[in-house]
Amino acid sequence: MRPSLLDPVFGRVAALPGVGPKTARMFDRLLAKPGAEARLVDLLFHLPSTVIDRSVRPTIAAAPLETMVVLKACVTEHRRPQGRYSKSPYRVLVEDDTGDVELVFFLANPDWIERSLPLGATRWISGRIELYDGRRQIVHPDRVLDEAGLAKLPAYEAVYGLTEGLQARYVLRATEEALTRLPNLPEWQDASVLSANKLPAFAEALRAAHRPASADALSPQHPARQRLALDELLASQLALRLIRAKMRRPPGRAHKGDGRYARAIESALPFRLTRAQQRTLDEIRADLASEQRMLRLVQGDVGSGKTVVAALAIASVAETGRQSALMAPTEILARQHYDRLTPTLASAGLRVALLTGRAKPSERAALHAAIGAGEVDVVIGTHALVQSDLAFHDLGLAVVDEQHRFGVEQRLALGAKGDAVDVLVMTATPIPRTLALTAFGDMDCSALDEKPPGRTPIATRALPAERIDEVIAGLRRALAEGARAYWVCPLVEENEELDLSAAQARHADLSRLFGAAVGLVHGRMKGGEKDAVMEAFQRGEVKILVATTVIEVGVDVPEATIMVIEHAERFGLAQLHQLRGRVGRGSGKSSCLLLYKGPLSEAAKARLMIIRQTEDGFRIAEEDLRLRGEGEILGVRQAGLPSFRLADLSAHARLLAVARDDAELILRRDPELASDRGQALRALLYLFERNDAVRLLRAG
Ligand code: ADP
Ligand code: MG
Repeated sequence: MRPSLLDPVFGRVAALPGVGPKTARMFDRLLAKPGAEARLVDLLFHLPSTVIDRSVRPTIAAAPLETMVVLKACVTEHRRPQGRYSKSPYRVLVEDDTGDVELVFFLANPDWIERSLPLGATRWISGRIELYDGRRQIVHPDRVLDEAGLAKLPAYEAVYGLTEGLQARYVLRATEEALTRLPNLPEWQDASVLSANKLPAFAEALRAAHRPASADALSPQHPARQRLALDELLASQLALRLIRAKMRRPPGRAHKGDGRYARAIESALPFRLTRAQQRTLDEIRADLASEQRMLRLVQGDVGSGKTVVAALAIASVAETGRQSALMAPTEILARQHYDRLTPTLASAGLRVALLTGRAKPSERAALHAAIGAGEVDVVIGTHALVQSDLAFHDLGLAVVDEQHRFGVEQRLALGAKGDAVDVLVMTATPIPRTLALTAFGDMDCSALDEKPPGRTPIATRALPAERIDEVIAGLRRALAEGARAYWVCPLVEENEELDLSAAQARHADLSRLFGAAVGLVHGRMKGGEKDAVMEAFQRGEVKILVATTVIEVGVDVPEATIMVIEHAERFGLAQLHQLRGRVGRGSGKSSCLLLYKGPLSEAAKARLMIIRQTEDGFRIAEEDLRLRGEGEILGVRQAGLPSFRLADLSAHARLLAVARDDAELILRRDPELASDRGQALRALLYLFERNDAVRLLRAG
């Protein structure tokens, strides 16, 4: 149970004074998970994105453009728009000894303007100067103040990310309220860590972060920001270690196979294992044979050959008479694994079954019975596998594919289906080494960092969207020669509806040109419909598959050799890499066309350049981390990394190491977090909502 001390922090934003139902909904949209309500903790962890520095008070001539400044100027002229309903703005000219600047107000109340800017008066005006037709102007000054008003203004003001309709002052006011409700929390950090890094207390840091007192208050190196980042990182490191300790605590069972099934499978393969596959298998087999429970992550880029590694691990376990389960995140992927793996596993005489949520009740009952009786060696399925009414005869190994679609909880649930089940997790998203620790600190890692031989590189080109006609002409030629293509439509930020309509519009366009050969899949389709389209694409009845990013994970159609990505500038590097990985899987020469809409930001330019330069997922992952600044966390989420709210891994890597070392020390001394500091650390875990980890502890 969460300590009651934290209750105020988890109170609803809607309950704050001055927050009406409409504003509350905007806060929900800005801060909460879909369908949830925003809480004070969400507000408190929504740190300012920039700071207005009002100490910059230049003369008009010296004022930098496009920067928030405060000017002292005299009002010299009012240019009221003609006619009551005129659309032209109300302009006010102000000047000092060095020059003048025009204040521009659209649809403003003229009375208010005349009152706040009387002719001949001196005023303090804050805002951003821009050049328009060679003249300096400020559109909608941020503030217009007299001497008394200026005295009340803070020198620095926090600026928050907002959502449509939500005004900055609401966020400022609600955040101030939330700060006053912050309870006194016990110190959970080690005193020597705090003093060595010169870090303030948590509450003090939170206040400083929201009430910037200097221009560099938002720098990730500011002590307040560092403190908050360290807290979040410590919570995450502790949680990972607690989970790992629990999963490891029950001793594993040694699966010492005699190698007969694995040999049968290997000799039936039309290729030899790569060195990386062999090394990974050796690591897995050592885990399987040991008395310790296995919890291993296999990271391998698309096409690196994870499936056969899983098949051979399954075979080793089957040699000891035990069952394996393979869990995939979607119906399509489960089915695909089933189709691929069945011939491989059957070559050693293993019996394979498919279990998904779509099985009819009678089929499911029969399958459950067969699995329970041990008549099935390998069960492949979706999360239907972790349903409570499924009992295995003797589950030895759980393989989880595409890990980032599953949470730790589901991994635990599948592991709990048998007696000390070994767990193998496979992910197609290479994680930079610096991050593997945070993302998967609870697992051992193997890397399939070498591709099977004989792959032809994918020709990757970037083209401005204006040249779409060339792309379509090229597509027409390729289709005539029997090619198949993916056409991925843009990801519109946080808006599934728009996402969908862009894909639907493109589908309609292409259908006009190519007729029935064009199909559409998107995230809103029912499973059955989606499968039907995918299967038509697999069979070649559909030749151009228009898709939203649902095709990103795992889908395998070797005949597809063309990938078109629209608005490629909006995708993160990891995502582009994943999408491109859908082609280049067969023997044919493949190409990837990145259509972009300019002007490109520096970061977007860099992403498109890197993706053209390399197909090495590990290198791309490193570059991604290097490039990813604030506001580009899309890639992180896609990569399945835990997204931090306060920490920025590209800036706080050193603190990550501090948190890791401290978490290790803490749990070595106090594994159940029972001491006084342990209690404080439990509060920390609740504060960062690592309730899953606290639940593993004895009540204390
Ligand atoms: P992924 O890691 O993306 O799941 P797959 O396991 O689907 O990759 O393998 C991609 C393709 O490479 C498959 O067609 C598979 O048969 C083939 N493959 C796997 N290992 C090798 C190898 N050592 N040599 C040649 N081809 C291989
Ligand atoms: Mg795969």
